[in-house]
Amino acid sequence: MAYGIPEQYKIKSAELSELKDAVSIEWTGCAGFRLKHKGTTLLIDPFVTRPRMAGMVAMPLKCNEQLCAEVFPEADYILVGHSHYDHLLDVPEIASKTRALVLGSPSTASVCLGAGMPDEKVKVVETFIPIMCGPFKVTFVPGVHGKAVLGRIPFPGQISGRPKQPMRASHYRAGGVYGLLIEIGALKLYHIGSADLIDDETAKVGKVNALFTCLAGRQDTPNYIARLNSRLQPDYIIPHHYDDFFQPFKFGNNLMSGVDIDSFFSEVKAVSPGARIVMPEYFQAMTFDPKTGKLVEG
Ligand SMILES: [Zn+2]
Repeated sequence: MAYGIPEQYKIKSAELSELKDAVSIEWTGCAGFRLKHKGTTLLIDPFVTRPRMAGMVAMPLKCNEQLCAEVFPEADYILVGHSHYDHLLDVPEIASKTRALVLGSPSTASVCLGAGMPDEKVKVVETFIPIMCGPFKVTFVPGVHGKAVLGRIPFPGQISGRPKQPMRASHYRAGGVYGLLIEIGALKLYHIGSADLIDDETAKVGKVNALFTCLAGRQDTPNYIARLNSRLQPDYIIPHHYDDFFQPFKFGNNLMSGVDIDSFFSEVKAVSPGARIVMPEYFQAMTFDPKTGKLVEG
């Protein structure tokens, strides 16, 4: 049964036209988000193919090209936080169709080039060197992958060369793992695609308005929310990667097994009482004011 977001965490979308120069942000499932501002579209970890678990171990993963085209008709930039398939599988296809520039680790670049993308559309990032993506100032921050499977990091290591695709899930090695700092005017957003952090590196980010935090596997990261909160002091916490990404969208937002979302709510209440939990539905627009950094609701 689809998960019902608790009433107190739901939001009401504002009409973009109500606020000049607003930033629109949609959750596109798993760790994925779409940000729009001043005519520029930036995607984070877009992933909509969502292959079923059955048969996945032995079979190469094929991107659902039609669904990618439907969901992501346009994009200018795609940020990839790490190279596991639930973050990267659909990226070469979306980038090729939209002519977006992909930014990520050397492993992400390998997969994109292996898929036939041209060199000039793939950028290997350096941490803490801000890059302007249209109106978005993007900084990749060193991170670490959560020990999400049986207390270990799944599929660690790098991807090299120009691997032929389709590839199996196990060939999508994590590669570099990053937090993503995105700044638009006074608005500061921070996205974590896997539930762990390097404390000292995260502290350099400083206070943010909104923290987009991965829930999958967080129970294996001691004091996850408390450590994030003390370094980032978010006004809003937007959980993601809590949905069952082995099920297609048509089945709605179902909880990933073992995610224990209620314990996340109580943890935030206990260690981050100043933050407001915000949970959009799939593809529901959240509107932020880049002048104040605040969420605007209709
Ligand atoms: Zn991962």
